[in-house]
Amino acid sequence: DEDGNVLNYIAISRDITESKNKEKAIHQLAYYDFLTKLPNRKLFEQEVESFIKSAHYNNKKFAILFLDLDNFKWVNDSLGHAVGDRLLIVISKFLKKCVSEDSIVSRLGGDEFVIIAPYDSKLQITKLATNILHTVSDPIIIDDKEINVGWSIGISVYPDNAKTYTDLLKSADTAMYMAKENGKNNFRYYNEAMNQEAVERMNIDTRLRYAIKNNGFNLNYQPKYSCADNSIKGLEALIRWNDDELGFVPPDKFIPIAEESGYMKDIGEWVLKQALSDLKKIHKETNSDISMAVNISGKQLDESDFYENTKKIIQDSKVESKYIEFEITETSVMKDINKSIKMLEKIKELGITISIDDFGTGYSSLAYLKKLPIDTLKIDREFVLELDNSEESHSIVSATIALSTALKLKNIAEGVETIEQKNILKNLGCSMIQGYLYSKPLEINPLIELVSNDCYNIKNI
Ligand code: C2E
Ligand code: CA
Ligand code: CA
Repeated sequence: DEDGNVLNYIAISRDITESKNKEKAIHQLAYYDFLTKLPNRKLFEQEVESFIKSAHYNNKKFAILFLDLDNFKWVNDSLGHAVGDRLLIVISKFLKKCVSEDSIVSRLGGDEFVIIAPYDSKLQITKLATNILHTVSDPIIIDDKEINVGWSIGISVYPDNAKTYTDLLKSADTAMYMAKENGKNNFRYYNEAMNQEAVERMNIDTRLRYAIKNNGFNLNYQPKYSCADNSIKGLEALIRWNDDELGFVPPDKFIPIAEESGYMKDIGEWVLKQALSDLKKIHKETNSDISMAVNISGKQLDESDFYENTKKIIQDSKVESKYIEFEITETSVMKDINKSIKMLEKIKELGITISIDDFGTGYSSLAYLKKLPIDTLKIDREFVLELDNSEESHSIVSATIALSTALKLKNIAEGVETIEQKNILKNLGCSMIQGYLYSKPLEINPLIELVSNDCYNIKNI
């Protein structure tokens, strides 16, 4: 009024339910994974930051578990993405069930998950990891299909291993890779020894680059024998690297690093050229016509110019392609089976024979095996090693030989060290044998001598 007293109030209200809902939806989209509804990477990072603050303030610990699903790519490739998606939803529910209320499960993307778990004791974290592994110990059934997966889990602990979000995640990731390398479906803690291994890998990487530039490799050859008459039918080229600084580094150690760093194209082409040039020498000096097998890394098959370059190297070598064999591991063939079939068909057109190496260690689908244009199954050393004392290995070898017969493929067993193993293999119908029992991989000159004398040395095996 005129005196300045308040007479009335006017209130204006507006319904903001819709905009609140929108806000919520936007929040959901920004911070949660669309498929599994779990917190996404962004929210995970914020949660870790607040865990760090609180742990620091209260003088407490917490653990980060980095999880990667084993064989997920295989599920996607062979059963389709829809099944893959449903699998992710199922396993994310399993994860939620495993963790305590004050833990956080998040999906980083793809088949990568992370968990933040308060740390009371190492045992309690170890139990959590073990429980997670248990959730996938039985096959998961989707659309009546049994799916076998496993987890590789890496664990880092605040503040023991790292103190920042980035470092904690990196440490857990490194540990996860170690778990994968250790044969999958297990867990690993990040620790100093693992750090050292990372440094060692870096050294190998650096020296590999040097070796590629400076012709630092050479090849050994291991003969393949016929089981029937102990004669040499072929050779396998195996790379050797004796570095000035690192000493002898076995291929099992440096090939995976070379693959990861993209050096396999250069190394692989060198191996093929060298092996073919040596084969010409071997043919000439021993007056024989044995064949030469070369190991081909999955990474080489992935190169877009692999076929063209291979064709050119073979043409330049003037070696007839019927004397050339490629050994490709089961795992790398199965990685992208349809792509493999196409590539292998082209290789076969060149006249090269193809072996599936380390057979039994991967996840071949029988339906696909039939479609692969291959010639030989190579039974992995792992099964031969236990042939006389493991029923399981015996069954696998026996089944592989039967399978090769049914599919009209040849078979060969590698890593044969004892006469007992050889006799079992022969009785099971194995046709070719390779291993220390007959000969270790040899330098070219002793090899030429061995081939020239052929079976004389080993008549009595
Ligand atoms: P792989 O192709 O399965 O080769 C067989 C491995 O078993 C070779 O080891 C060979 O020396 C070893 N071996 C042969 N007979 C016996 C035996 O009776 N007992 C035992 N304990 N071992 C035996 P190596 O030469 O150390 O090669 C290891 C792996 O490295 C190879 O496994 C192959 O995967 C890879 N590799 C070797 N050379 C090359 C190459 O030129 N290119 C590619 N991509 N990979 C290669
Ligand atoms: Ca091989
Ligand atoms: Ca093998």
